Amino acid sequence: MSVELYRDKNHSCIMLENLIDSDSSAIQSNQFIIVDGKDIALIDPGGNITYNGIFFEIHRLFSNGTVKYILASHADPDIIASLNKWLIQTQAKLVISKLWARFVPHFCNKDIPKNRILQIPDQGLSVILGDSKIKAIPAHFLHSEGNFQFYDPVSKILFSGDMGASMDDDADLTHPVTDFSSHIKTMESFHHRYMNSNKICRFWVTMVREMDVEMIVPQHGRYFKGKKMINEFLDWIEQLECGVDLMKQSHYREPD
Ligand code: FE
Repeated sequence: MSVELYRDKNHSCIMLENLIDSDSSAIQSNQFIIVDGKDIALIDPGGNITYNGIFFEIHRLFSNGTVKYILASHADPDIIASLNKWLIQTQAKLVISKLWARFVPHFCNKDIPKNRILQIPDQGLSVILGDSKIKAIPAHFLHSEGNFQFYDPVSKILFSGDMGASMDDDADLTHPVTDFSSHIKTMESFHHRYMNSNKICRFWVTMVREMDVEMIVPQHGRYFKGKKMINEFLDWIEQLECGVDLMKQSHYREPD
């Protein structure tokens, strides 16, 4: 189902949340379409499983639009493994961390012309979409070394990639989180292992607290809506020990 996260007469943000069969071995993931006027940006469109669904949805909803950008938070398979198809079917530019720009051509059958990849420097950048702009926000090591989230100042949505992701096969993803404390159990083990460290989480929280964010929408699971719920999430992740904080010598032993 496509979920309309935001819409005004010129600008909309759509989340696609059910393009992967519920009994698939592939992890559930959300894909995003941002439209301003006739310009379209896709965020983390995923791999071959989700390609057709996104393609048909764009043509159903925005048939006279043009896909300008593929915005990739990092270079994992559930983020951008469909790159080859998007580059062939559209004239879009891939926007990705400079750390991954020379790795992602391995997803493609042929080399990618240099002008089809916009490399994001570590400090981030903005891209123009119609009359609006989308900001690539630094989120390095959350979880990938060169990692960006995408902030849309019109809708005030922060598309947070893996940050805030949850794993719950029974969740209704068309609605935001309503009870934060019961939601923690669907996020905790993922953040413990995938996020780098409490130090990095705190850097990110400090940045986000200074931004005007109405929704935090992760790539897996349910989203957070409203300042109160966003603050509950920020308070939780700010104190979470994770990643290298939890690693011990006993994790690094040659197996039998
Ligand atoms: Fe990833």
